[in-house]
Amino acid sequence: MNYDVIIIGAGPGGIFTAYELTKGCTDLKIAVFELGNPLNKRKCPIDGKRVKSCIGCPVCAIMSGFGGAGAFSDGKYNITNQFGGTLYEYVGKTRATELMRYVDTINLSHGGTGTKLYSTANSEIKRKCLENGLHLLDAQVRHLGTDINYVVLENLYNELKDKVDFYFNTAVSSVEKSEEGFAVHTASGSYTCGKCVISVGRSGSKWMEGVCKELQIPTKSNRVDIGVRVELPAAVFSHLTDELYESKIVYRTEKFEDLVRTFCMNPYGVVVNENTNGIVTVNGHSYEDKSKHTENTNFALLVSKHFSEPFKDSNGYGESIARLSNMLGGGVIVQRFGDLVRGRRSTERRIEESYVTPTLAATPGDLSLVMPKRILDGIIEMIYALDKIAPGTANDDTLLYGVEVKFYNMEVTIDKNLQTKHEGLYVIGDCSGVTHSLSHASASGVHVARHILGAE
Ligand SMILES: Cc1cc2nc3c(=O)[nH]c(=O)nc-3n(C[C@H](O)[C@H](O)[C@H](O)COP(=O)(O)OP(=O)(O)OC[C@H]3O[C@@H](n4cnc5c(N)ncnc54)[C@H](O)[C@@H]3O)c2cc1C
Repeated sequence: MNYDVIIIGAGPGGIFTAYELTKGCTDLKIAVFELGNPLNKRKCPIDGKRVKSCIGCPVCAIMSGFGGAGAFSDGKYNITNQFGGTLYEYVGKTRATELMRYVDTINLSHGGTGTKLYSTANSEIKRKCLENGLHLLDAQVRHLGTDINYVVLENLYNELKDKVDFYFNTAVSSVEKSEEGFAVHTASGSYTCGKCVISVGRSGSKWMEGVCKELQIPTKSNRVDIGVRVELPAAVFSHLTDELYESKIVYRTEKFEDLVRTFCMNPYGVVVNENTNGIVTVNGHSYEDKSKHTENTNFALLVSKHFSEPFKDSNGYGESIARLSNMLGGGVIVQRFGDLVRGRRSTERRIEESYVTPTLAATPGDLSLVMPKRILDGIIEMIYALDKIAPGTANDDTLLYGVEVKFYNMEVTIDKNLQTKHEGLYVIGDCSGVTHSLSHASASGVHVARHILGAE
């Protein structure tokens, strides 16, 4: 079977490539290969009763399938160049912002109308942060919420399904360069195409490494973010979350001058497991629908580790730390802040007696046995700094789940069109190492589609 364009991966990067291609040209023959299920068949077996924690399904329903890793996410589309990726380094800041705004209009026209757009501009909170050594990053945030995000994806799929051939439950095993373009191999057959767009996300990072080796595409890898997910009563952060929803705050530690930052804030949300290549880490999300709100807010506190030569395996380093927590806790570990600073482990009883009810069934334990001291010290320092703008953050009962790891894909060498050294082979979204967010990944898809269409 021959296609004009084959897209590998049906996450935001792949979906927005397909959307923009079909919008720009109705004659193109397009296929999307996705190793996971269609949206309506994606179901994580964890139900909180029969299955309480991750059982390591061969294909993770949270990370894979139509909608990609973002399908059950909080659906926060950050319109900013200050975080979420470095797309602007390739396409320029104005263009990157324009692409993210365009993605926002598509989301709105596919079910997102009525959702709120938050902004940090001219915020009083910004001043209060500065007074306390904290820096609030500039952003606009469209919060779709897990429920509306699902509706948007459903609508996009319904629009695309008659224009694009979707191959679900079909992992691409390899990509080969041919004279006419590329051959894409799967267990059920091989397909050829003139142009190939790879958007396999973080879950496809190992596979992507193999493709780069095979096709001799240069890469580099030197960053991983390690930290914890903080969960506390929503009231502690409500003055921030009501106004900004998501506040990205950066703090420079006094001890090591490391940067610690808040990440993925989920007001009235839940903490969840995340399974990346069999390693269980922690994440979080929240619903737009108020009936699904909890009494807690959660967010991550992360420290970026950049390595220099000769060490190259930054993700391997992050994995080893996550494995330690999996080894000690059988999955994610939870600890009260008060127990951590007193140098003792949390126990079932201490968690039960705590005034914060955990939204994730994690194993009570001691994060200091898992996390490097330097990282943990930085996190503790930041919790005390946050306590000055949100009193109650450093409360004994504040829960810390660990570990949260943000694996970064190695950076694939691509040009301003996100094209590799092989003409017609594009690498976009999180697997390129260029993006780490819904908005940037989606924007990268639109950018490549327009290049393919020759609109640029
Ligand atoms: C729980 C959670 C919550 C999140 N919340 C947010 C948020 O609120 N805001 C935000 O900006 N970001 C969030 N993120 C991150 C965001 O989801 C990602 O940045 C985004 O989905 C990246 O899009 P992508 O298309 O590059 O990759 P992905 O979404 O990862 O999609 C890649 C797809 O490729 C498929 N694939 C992989 N390998 C192959 C193969 N060999 N053959 C065929 N298919 C393959 C995968 O199954 C997957 O469906 C969250 C992530 C998680 C896990």
